[in-house]
Amino acid sequence: MALVVQKYGGTSVGSLDRIRMVAERVAETYREGHQVIVVVSAMAGETDRLLSMGWELCNAPAEREMDVLVSSGEQVSAALLAIQLNEIGVPARSMLGHQARIVTDSVHTKARIRTIDGTGLRSTLENGHVLVVAGFQGTDAYGNITTLGRGGSDTSAVAVAAAVKADLCEICTDVDGVYTTDPSVCPNARKIDRISYEEMLELSSLGAKVLQIRSVELAMKLGIPLHVRSSFSSSEGTIVTDEEHLLERVVVAGVAADKKTVKLTVRALPDHPGVVASVFEPLAEANISVDMIIQNVSKEGHTDLTFTVSREEADRAEAIATRIVDSVDAEGVTRDDEVAKVSIVGVGMRNHAGIAARMFRLLADADINIEAISTSEIKTSCLIEAEHADRAVVVLHDGFQLGKPSD
Ligand code: ADP
Ligand code: ASP
Ligand code: MG
Repeated sequence: MALVVQKYGGTSVGSLDRIRMVAERVAETYREGHQVIVVVSAMAGETDRLLSMGWELCNAPAEREMDVLVSSGEQVSAALLAIQLNEIGVPARSMLGHQARIVTDSVHTKARIRTIDGTGLRSTLENGHVLVVAGFQGTDAYGNITTLGRGGSDTSAVAVAAAVKADLCEICTDVDGVYTTDPSVCPNARKIDRISYEEMLELSSLGAKVLQIRSVELAMKLGIPLHVRSSFSSSEGTIVTDEEHLLERVVVAGVAADKKTVKLTVRALPDHPGVVASVFEPLAEANISVDMIIQNVSKEGHTDLTFTVSREEADRAEAIATRIVDSVDAEGVTRDDEVAKVSIVGVGMRNHAGIAARMFRLLADADINIEAISTSEIKTSCLIEAEHADRAVVVLHDGFQLGKPSD
C-alpha cells in the first residue's frame, strides 16, 4: 500500500463531467488499496472570474479580501469532488487550507507555506477516507485566509506530500507531461521523460506554467520526485528529479516564453553611487520581484536604467519608480508592455560554449531584435517584442533540434 498525492488542475476539474472522470481515476487508485490525498485547483477560468469581479469594484482591492474571494474557487471544486467520490462509493472528505493546517506567512496573494501539520491529514486517511484538499490556500498565524500565487495548487500538493511523507506526488494536468516547449505554441514539442529540478525551476520561472516555480523549489529542497502526467490518460508522464537520476544531460532541454513581462526604464538617472539602490530598495520593500536589469553606458553623468517586472506587479512598480524619479532627480519613467522573454534552458549548457551565440544567431536570422539579455549557468534569456514571441519559440525549438525525431 502506498500513500499517493494526486493534484488535479483547473482544466481537469473544469466541468461536472470532468469531476466525474477525476473521481473515477481517484477511485481506481483507492481500490488498488492505496491511500489517496487529492489536491484540487478551482474549475478552469474560475480564479480569473473571481479576480475580475474584485477588480471591477475597485482598482486596488484589499489583498486580504481578494484572498478570501479567490480561495472560494478551490472550496467549490474540493466539495464537488468529495460529493462525487462518495456518490461512487469511495468515502471522501474535503478539507480547506485551514482545516488541513496549512500555515503560511501573511503575504496576501503570494503567501509562502511555513508549516503543515500532517497529523490531522494522516488520521483522516487512516479512517479509510480519501482526502480532497483545496489547493492554493492556507491561513496565516492570525487565521487570515491566504493564497499561494497563481498556479499555487502545485505547491500545495508538494507541501502536503512532504507533510504526510507520501510515496508519490503526481501532478495531473491537461498535457502528458513536461514538454521541450509549450505544446500549445509548438506542435512539434516533445515530451521529456526525465528532467532535473534545476532545469524545471528555470523553465517554470521563465514562463512554462506547467508547474508553479515554488512547487519545484520545494520538491527540490525536500527531495520529492514529481510525476507530471495527464489527467485524461494513464500514459507515463515526466519525472522531475535530481540531476544524478537523469539518463543524459542534454545541452538544451527546453524553450520557454514569458509573455507576462513588462519593461520599465528610468530615464537619465544621475550616475553616482547609491542611485541604483535607491530605485530597487523601495521595489524590494513592496515585495516586487525585479527580473532583468540593464544599466546603460553613462552619458554626461546620466544613465538609463531598464528593468523588467511581471505584469501583475507592473502598475505598482511603475508608481514606485515614478515616485523615485523626483527624489533622485531623473527625467522620467517609460513603460513598455509589448515585450516577451524567450529562454533556452539545459544543464548541459554548463559545459558547452557557444550556445548563447547560437541562440542570438537563430533570432537574428528570423529578424527578431534582442532588447536585453540575461544568463545563468543553465539558461539564456532574451527580451524581444511580444508579437514575435511564439515565432521565436518555434525558431529556437527547431534550431536546437528539440522536436520529435520523426518530424
Ligand atoms: P493545470 O490547470 O493543470 O495546473 P496549467 O494550465 O497550469 O495546468 O499548466 C499546463 C499548461 O502549461 C499546458 O496546457 C501547456 O499549455 C502549458 N505549458 C507551458 N510550457 C509547457 C511545457 N514546457 N510543457 C508542458 N506544458 C507547458
Ligand atoms: N486556481 C489557482 C489559479 O488559477 C491556483 C491553481 O490553479 O493552481 O492560479
Ligand atoms: Mg497550473
